[in-house]
Amino acid sequence: MIRASVQTIHILGGGIAGLACAYYAKQKFPQSRVILYEAAARPGGRAFSCRDKGWNIELDNAAHGILGANREVLRFYRGKENVRRIPFYDFADKKLSCNPFRFCRHILLSVFNTPAEKISARCLWRVAAALFPFMPRQTRLFYSQNNLTPDLIASFLPYVDELKTGWKLQQAVGEKQIEKLCFNRGEILVGKNDKIVSALDSRAYQRIFGGEVFDYNRIVNVFYRVSTRLWLPGEKGVLGLVNAKADWIFAGKNTLVVTISDFHGEIGDKTEFARRIWLEINALRNQTPFFLPDYRIRDYKYATIAQDKKNNAKRPQNCRTKYTNMVLAGDWTLKNYPCCLNGAVLSARRAVKALF
Ligand SMILES: Cc1cc2nc3c(=O)[nH]c(=O)nc-3n(C[C@H](O)[C@H](O)[C@H](O)COP(=O)(O)OP(=O)(O)OC[C@H]3O[C@@H](n4cnc5c(N)ncnc54)[C@H](O)[C@@H]3O)c2cc1C
Repeated sequence: MIRASVQTIHILGGGIAGLACAYYAKQKFPQSRVILYEAAARPGGRAFSCRDKGWNIELDNAAHGILGANREVLRFYRGKENVRRIPFYDFADKKLSCNPFRFCRHILLSVFNTPAEKISARCLWRVAAALFPFMPRQTRLFYSQNNLTPDLIASFLPYVDELKTGWKLQQAVGEKQIEKLCFNRGEILVGKNDKIVSALDSRAYQRIFGGEVFDYNRIVNVFYRVSTRLWLPGEKGVLGLVNAKADWIFAGKNTLVVTISDFHGEIGDKTEFARRIWLEINALRNQTPFFLPDYRIRDYKYATIAQDKKNNAKRPQNCRTKYTNMVLAGDWTLKNYPCCLNGAVLSARRAVKALF
């Protein structure tokens, strides 16, 4: 049995929320020891990159865009690529436009991964307030060309004293206070002065600690391997698609990534699915494709909790738990705020602030 030292901060889950907790914990308690336990082989949760063996290139787990208004996460983001005015291509009139008001519903669908009409007024108000006065500084879109691990995850790692990857929490023991954390790799005794932050995703949290069961919305990403950066209307590396199968295209040096938010259809035959989207991309480029490039389909069935009124109401009121030594972080814990990278970082800031 491993005995944790006094004044240790145990962070459960190494997604962006957990990593950001390490940063804020070190700012607030520089003398403390920060241990981060992550079930997977690498930190980052839903946002990391790793080498794709077949393609021999670094591939993001999922394509991510960060709005300029997301200042809390941008502090840690090292990527440079961004568009000042996001171009949208509407397949209905085959026209390109950069008017964000015209494509408001499309933007909201992507931000909340939930159709605009299902989002609560409070959530809409939070986003409108964050984006106000809708200047290019707020509505600028950042996206990673250099991959998420070097661009984002790496910024947090210096604040983690001990990173325990492959440590999956199975049980927490204690009544008013958690006394023991049981992982697949061993047990950790929680000292009297130690604190715990749960930065687990909502499903893992519910399995271990109980609480609300959420509905989830799906996101599908299709990665195409390209030999050169493809030209897109708008001449930028990012394009919003309206009245189309896909919602966003991110064009990189070696990959072209397509995102479909709140996906409801059937993927069926994967090659056929990838081909249909590839045809759509080529139609807007006025090109006839001669072949389907190598592709990868990533289907995230639990991409985010559904952020409709019903599920938003189930989100916790604050970051307190029934345990006196544990607080909550994670994108799903921030009521009325979109489940996104910025929400994950904000939730971490709030959780660490509530410690002690
Ligand atoms: C396809 C896709 C596209 C997205 N696009 C965007 C975007 O463009 N912009 C944006 O801002 N956001 C986007 N998001 C949302 C964003 O990725 C998430 O909001 C953010 O990464 C959530 O971080 P988190 O730390 O709260 O949760 P997670 O990343 O889910 O972290 C939870 C961590 O806990 C770990 N864990 C689970 N169980 C255990 C256990 N028992 N023991 C120990 N560890 C455990 C998990 O492995 C994980 O690392 C997207 C998400 C997806 C899936």
